[in-house]
Amino acid sequence: MDRYIILILTLFLCASCTTQNRDYTNPKLPIEDRVDNLLNKMTLEEKVAQMAQFVGLEHMKKAEQNLSAEELANNDAQGFYENLHSSEVAQMVREGKIGSFLHVTTIEEANHLQELAQESRLQIPLLIGIDAIHGNGLNRGATVYPSPISLASTWDTTLVKTIGRQTAKEMRAMGAQWTFSPNIEVARDPRWGRVGETFGEDPKLVSDFGVKLIQGLQGTDSDFTDNVIANAKHAIGGGESVNGLNAAPADISDHSLREVFLPPFKAAIEAGVYTAMASHNEINGVPAHANKWLLENLFREEYGFNGFVVSDWMDIERLKDLHRVAPTYKDAFRQTIEAGMDMHMHGPGFTPKVVELVEEGVISEERINKSARRILEAKFRLGLFEDPFVDEDQFENAIFTDQHQETALEAAHESIVLLKNDGLLPLGKNKYDNILVTGPNANNQSILGDWVLEQPEDNITTVFEGIRKVVPEANVEFLEYGHIKSKLSENKFEEARQKAAKADLTVAVVGENSLRYQYRWKTSGENRDASTVKLHGDQLRYIKELKKSGKPVVVVLVNGRPLGVEWISENVPALIEAWEPGAKGGQALAEILFGEVNPSGKLPITFPRNVGQIMQVYNHKPSQYFHHYVLDETGPLFHFGYGLSYTTFEYSDLSIADATLEKGDTLEVSVDITNTGNRKGQEIAQLYIQDKYASVTQPVKELKGYQRLTLEKGEAKTVTFTISYDDLGLFDRNLNYVVEPGEFSLMVGGSSRDEDLIQKTFNTK
Ligand code: BGC
Repeated sequence: MDRYIILILTLFLCASCTTQNRDYTNPKLPIEDRVDNLLNKMTLEEKVAQMAQFVGLEHMKKAEQNLSAEELANNDAQGFYENLHSSEVAQMVREGKIGSFLHVTTIEEANHLQELAQESRLQIPLLIGIDAIHGNGLNRGATVYPSPISLASTWDTTLVKTIGRQTAKEMRAMGAQWTFSPNIEVARDPRWGRVGETFGEDPKLVSDFGVKLIQGLQGTDSDFTDNVIANAKHAIGGGESVNGLNAAPADISDHSLREVFLPPFKAAIEAGVYTAMASHNEINGVPAHANKWLLENLFREEYGFNGFVVSDWMDIERLKDLHRVAPTYKDAFRQTIEAGMDMHMHGPGFTPKVVELVEEGVISEERINKSARRILEAKFRLGLFEDPFVDEDQFENAIFTDQHQETALEAAHESIVLLKNDGLLPLGKNKYDNILVTGPNANNQSILGDWVLEQPEDNITTVFEGIRKVVPEANVEFLEYGHIKSKLSENKFEEARQKAAKADLTVAVVGENSLRYQYRWKTSGENRDASTVKLHGDQLRYIKELKKSGKPVVVVLVNGRPLGVEWISENVPALIEAWEPGAKGGQALAEILFGEVNPSGKLPITFPRNVGQIMQVYNHKPSQYFHHYVLDETGPLFHFGYGLSYTTFEYSDLSIADATLEKGDTLEVSVDITNTGNRKGQEIAQLYIQDKYASVTQPVKELKGYQRLTLEKGEAKTVTFTISYDDLGLFDRNLNYVVEPGEFSLMVGGSSRDEDLIQKTFNTK
């Protein structure tokens, strides 16, 4: 039926709503009353159906076309439902049997699904969710911003809020209203392929970025009409699995959970995040999807979570299939609902079994009402009952706008981290007539990172293209490497050496590939974990060959997780961590290489030298490095908070207003920072504390404040930080949060490395 006829019919029904008592269609009534009215009209099956999510029809159709029956049966990531064709799923929507969809990536499909939903008895609109992790990148044509680990390197929370707002606009323009973002797991193991979609290793940085992104996505009031709902995921502990593999068990002490992994979730809940997602993994023996302590006791009762929890991809079924805590799927559904789960991602098995469980008296209808209520409330607050459709004519104007591109460029500028510079950078624009650009990430979309589809070529500036925009095109040559896993021939190495020898300078762009649409070549990202932090394949040998040319080599890393690039850092004059800098990444990098922009990013995660050093984090306990490794160096390759600039900064005059704090007090700290180099630059000043003696062992450093500031050449500024007494607490031996009296060290500087910090002490009473 034509969409506009449906809308007219809806309006007509609304006009006669008093007679038919369809009060839930009346936008003038309070949302609570509308939900009550609707719930009263729903059958049990319709209510459970609100809890049921399916993958988009086009996603299913693609699987139906492209894969053989056997492949479909063995490939659970394709969203194929055994014995259920996409046409039957469409029919289910017409019958009101589905509440939500994911993996809907086009406006046409979003509108089509809503049309189907309008044919259902109660015309309840669908909630359409998508993994818009750094922009709505699963939509072709959207703005792809730098990936989360890159954004965390900016230490600029204002920017991430803007990105959230812009992402929400692009999502709503496409017909999606819910993003499975932010990923606020604390990443403590660089083997984990998902590090790139996190904000790094520090609980405060992760909390701050999570909160600002949520505020940008959801807005800050209860009306979500122009926004989308966010999702705090994954709870909990996946960032420190026993072996660095995605979904492997997490065995984490209560103290570490409270001190490291839970603060971002508590902060997200306090910021009003509307949804949360359980993690694939078990946590201390109980799978997250059956973990009542986590989802009910902690999230709802202790932290005050009011939204709804969604399961992760087929993880309820995995209570039986993988974790083996449920002998049947039906029991898995029972356990998860009893633990506090509200929505099943994804597929047909859930609804009939849950209806049975209620009819058998195992689960109460009251419990189902709670979940249905939470989901329906979101749909009302999103304005979907007023208009679930989006305007196809407006779509192109709403995405990849000039303003969004500017933000993506600014974020890329701020996120790129200069790791080493022997004075080679910035490169003189007129100095090199022949620049060789090479490496597996030099001229393709790997700069985008995970959670994107292939984007229109014109939207993306690769590193090679970026350099050709800054210096005359004729001066830049590209040498193909192949993909990251390529086995290079001796001829190829020889060719690289010769070309580098002929050139004045080589820019080698190496790293990893997290592009999910290149599943065969992907070396990082979701479900691509590594037993090493080395560069994959022949990349290191390639750089060694380039270096043999005798000409300078600048190495640029494009990757989502820390790499142990020790040899490179010791043997090339300049090394840059570009992370996954997004659509404008190549331009941003070129502008940094040639000095149009001064680099200012700082690492949100420690770089180990080798895999044996893991777990290596800056906020470790005092005894961690009591002893040292026999052969290798013990300290990190690059410290948390580290990053160079083309200028230098000096910290002086650290002072504390009143060095003794009582409950209710705040600590006012000031420090002078001077730009001592010869160009303008941005610095990220960091403040750490250490509780010197405590009843429970405390980290050697904990980040408590940071500020990004701009300083002209020679300029000095006084920076002030305010820390509250309550920020100084710890979880005591009974897991109560307390501030203990005693002495604290306070450290301020440009990284977490001891030699970059100046110190003072203060006391709590
Ligand atoms: C991931 C989630 C994601 C979901 C839907 C899962 O495999 O773990 O983070 O939101 O898929 O795409």
